[in-house]
Amino acid sequence: MNIVLLGAPGAGKGTQAAKLVEKHRLPHISTGDMLRAAVKDGTPLGMKAKSFMDAGELVPDDVIIGLVTERLQDPDTAAGFILDGFPRTSTQAVALDGELSRLERPLGAALLIDVASEVIVARLTARRMCEKCDYIGSAADEACPKCGGALYQRDDDNEATVRNRLNVYETSTAPLIDYYRGCDLLVSIDGDRDPDVVFEDVQKSLSLA
Ligand code: AMP
Repeated sequence: MNIVLLGAPGAGKGTQAAKLVEKHRLPHISTGDMLRAAVKDGTPLGMKAKSFMDAGELVPDDVIIGLVTERLQDPDTAAGFILDGFPRTSTQAVALDGELSRLERPLGAALLIDVASEVIVARLTARRMCEKCDYIGSAADEACPKCGGALYQRDDDNEATVRNRLNVYETSTAPLIDYYRGCDLLVSIDGDRDPDVVFEDVQKSLSLA
C-alpha cells in the first residue's frame, strides 16, 4: 500500500511510521530524516537545506520534489511505501500525484494523525531522539529504552522554532487535508492517545491485519 502521512510536526507521524515499518515491512521515506542525514554528511543538499531547517522553514519545493522522485525509483518502493513529511505544500502534492500516475502506483491513503497545537508544543520541546536507532523518546528518558543509545534534542525542537514550524504547517501543509479529502483518500485518526492505541486505529482504518 502507498501511504502518505499527514499531520503537524510532532503529531506522531514518525512513531506511527516506525510501527508500520516494523509490522508491515514497508519502506519509510521520511524527507526530514533524509535532509538531516544530508546535513550530517555535509553534502551540497545538506548545506542548502540547513538554514531552512534551523529556522523551521520549508526547504524549497524543487529540491525536495527531486529528492522524493529519485527515492521512488528505488525497487524497494515498488510494493508500497510510507511517505512521512512529504508532501508539505500543494506544489509537492501535485508533483507526487504526477509521479505516481507516471509510475502507475496510485496512493492508497492519506493518513492524518490529528493532534491539537497546544499538545504539540509541549510534546516537541520535550522530544528526544536516539542517536543510534530510530527511537523517539522524551526528556523523561535517561537513555534510549530500545538500544541504550544516548538521546539528543533536535536543533529545531526549541520552542521558538517549534512555534514557527506550526505556523508553517497551518499555512502551507494543513490545506492538503482538504486536498486529499477531495481525492477521497483522507483517513483521520485522533493522535492524542497512547501510540499503541493510535496504531491499532491506524491498522483498522487502513484495513491492515
Ligand atoms: P520533519 O523531520 O519532517 O519535521 O522535517 C524537518 C525539517 O525538514 C522541516 O522543518 C523542513 O525544514 C524540512 N523538510 C522536511 N520535509 C520537507 C518537505 N516535504 N518540504 C520542505 N521542507 C521539508
